[in-house]
Amino acid sequence: MPEATKIDIRAQSLEELRAFFVQRGEKAFRGNQVYEWLWQKGAHRFEEMTNLSKALREKLEERFVINHIAVDQMQRSADGTIKNAVKLHDGLVVESVLIPTETRTTACVSSQVGCSLDCRFCATARLKRMRNLNPDEIYDQVMVIDRQSRLYFGRPLSNIVFMGMGEPLMNYPNVMKAIDRITAEDGLGMSPRRITVSTSGVPKLIRKMADQAPRFNLAVSLHSAIEETRSRIMPFNERMPLSELREAIAYWYDKTRSRVTYEYVVWDGVNDGDADIRALLDFCRAAPCKVNLIEYNPIDDGMFRQAGESRIQAYVDALEGAGVTVTVRRSRGKDIDAACGQLANKSTGPGE
Ligand code: SAH
Repeated sequence: MPEATKIDIRAQSLEELRAFFVQRGEKAFRGNQVYEWLWQKGAHRFEEMTNLSKALREKLEERFVINHIAVDQMQRSADGTIKNAVKLHDGLVVESVLIPTETRTTACVSSQVGCSLDCRFCATARLKRMRNLNPDEIYDQVMVIDRQSRLYFGRPLSNIVFMGMGEPLMNYPNVMKAIDRITAEDGLGMSPRRITVSTSGVPKLIRKMADQAPRFNLAVSLHSAIEETRSRIMPFNERMPLSELREAIAYWYDKTRSRVTYEYVVWDGVNDGDADIRALLDFCRAAPCKVNLIEYNPIDDGMFRQAGESRIQAYVDALEGAGVTVTVRRSRGKDIDAACGQLANKSTGPGE
């Protein structure tokens, strides 16, 4: 078969792979072996599948291709953070970040090339959404970072956050399939408790996800609990208002019993007033939650400025006073544009 018409083998289910062998007079379990090579060992070449005969590997090669990502460029920050520009099989580029701390290594992975949402403060929003990533392209980012973690920090990857480029819930089926392969026993076997899906808040899909009773964590990029303010900084909020988000989060908690984390940046003159704090406290009553106050990473144009220390402290005091767990998170990898909201393929050019 000419290369271009070959089938992407990682788009095949286990059942399809088993059927492929049966149709050729072979044992079905050969399909399981191939599936293991693809999703447990992360093989990128049929030659690696050494428990299959050469003849069988050639049969696979004739029919299928293993598309995979390649690290195009790697940058290391003074604080140890590593940013990878990874090239997809069709030449598009996304970014994935390795964030080391004393005790853990977190992979921050992308779910889309670009993003279709329009958060005013986010660099990725300025890129056009080109396409969704496939499950294998998400899985491969995890494998790349696991390898780097072992190489540079002498330990395996411990956590995964879907906080790279894109809106994971706008690529729902592929993100769920990737998480399935990352957590499955016949996949990477990672605990779902160590995975966090971060969404800007798509109520319908939060509900859909809750219905699956997932065991991973959910983070919601809230940034304001006042309808008009949120619509100003995250215009899609007009179509998916806070009132619906609030109900969807209550539904999520009801189904999963898992506390949601709100990500929240406090900006000067945007959401740093007492009314903003009161609205957040009220929003926090929707369901048990935590609040992560994240540092703003400026993205060039100076439209937004992080609020002063005292306003951030006012948030912390009010939240703690109301019994809500709050953490203030410092940015990592800022010097290489690897921090939240800074992923924009700067070094390689958009989608190149
Ligand atoms: N689309 C998803 C995941 C990607 S963004 C989401 O919105 O959650 C990951 C986090 O970075 C989000 O909480 C987002 O609001 C935040 N973020 C975006 N731009 C930022 C910036 N310039 N500074 C700090 N955080 C930012």
